[in-house]
Amino acid sequence: MSLIDLTSMAEPDEEQQENIEETLEALKEDIPDFCYQCGKCTSGCEAFILLELEPHSIMGKSRAGFIDELVNSEEIWTCMQCFKCQERCPQDLSPVGVIFALKNLAVASGKEIPGGYQKMLQSVLGNGLIQQTKEVLNRANDTRKRDDYDLPPVPKPEDMNKVQQILMKATQEKLR
Ligand code: SF4
Ligand code: SF4
Repeated sequence: MSLIDLTSMAEPDEEQQENIEETLEALKEDIPDFCYQCGKCTSGCEAFILLELEPHSIMGKSRAGFIDELVNSEEIWTCMQCFKCQERCPQDLSPVGVIFALKNLAVASGKEIPGGYQKMLQSVLGNGLIQQTKEVLNRANDTRKRDDYDLPPVPKPEDMNKVQQILMKATQEKLR
């Protein structure tokens, strides 16, 4: 199921499909010719230890032209968008920017996206939050809600229609 199918927010965009080839070309040009594979991005990557994301490897594969392989991989969906790789790169490159472009390509070409992203989008569309508020365990191992600590409800956008319109526009924008 694609992002578009899930939300029913927009019809598949043929023009966007045609842009995939252009984006692939742009990606090859922009990237990674200046990456010397020092690995500094990967050594600081928040998703490296638990999720085995290697931004330097993504840069290397992109430079070598393995775009399709990356677009079809699960690896690109493990990036948390912390931007640490971009901050650490001695060459002022942006592995996270490359990963964004690859994700856009995946969505535009109808690849299945991870369920967590779909849930997050549904939640934003429903109440403006990326996830529902959760109960927590205290030190005595008792479950507690916000109310138990006299915390106010998490504020939600006043105009959900506007939030939905913005999201719809974002999903319909051309790649890059
Ligand atoms: S830190 Fe920069 S130069 Fe080093 S591997 Fe990562 S992207 Fe390449
Ligand atoms: S933005 Fe993504 S790739 Fe870059 S350091 Fe953070 S989790 Fe890793």
